[in-house]
Amino acid sequence: MNSRAVFLDRDGTINEDVGYPANAGDLILLPGSAGAIRALNQQGLKVIVISNQSGIGRGLFGHAEVDNLNLDLNERLKAQGAWIDAFYYCPHAPAADGEPVCDCRKPGTGLFDRAADELAIELRLSFMVGDKLSDISAGASCGCRTVLLGNDELFETAPRYRPDCRVPGLTAAVEWILSQIGKKPD
Ligand SMILES: [Mg+2]
Ligand SMILES: [Zn+2]
Repeated sequence: MNSRAVFLDRDGTINEDVGYPANAGDLILLPGSAGAIRALNQQGLKVIVISNQSGIGRGLFGHAEVDNLNLDLNERLKAQGAWIDAFYYCPHAPAADGEPVCDCRKPGTGLFDRAADELAIELRLSFMVGDKLSDISAGASCGCRTVLLGNDELFETAPRYRPDCRVPGLTAAVEWILSQIGKKPD
């Protein structure tokens, strides 16, 4: 039986979005991130990061930096009893007009489809949490329920991208997700 997952954007959702983070020193966990992810782990939900890392395509850093930062992130979470089950990222830079040139850069759904195949995930039972409209659009396009973090301005100006839920941060997002599937945090 395919399982339910919670997809998380990385920068601005789990850790501070410092703009093309490349080193462990750039990794600042947002308050409550570890506890929120731990609550998902404890419910047996797969937790999967889906991230645009166009810094690679822009020549700012390589795959090794992204892989190492993801390892560091998981070490930091594991020290607090939480973990990410899998990381997927798009390494491509968009075209000059901002449009994706690949199917894996959010709002494209290529990485969601890959995760669904490789990890036996039912997208329609799953959730996507992020701080940008591209996160919401990508999640909604593949049938996930969506949660937008913060971002009043984006929310007011782009009503066609209405997420299913909008909350200030990951802690409240996880509370909502668990309530949607009839679970309470342990
Ligand atoms: Mg983000
Ligand atoms: Zn891509």
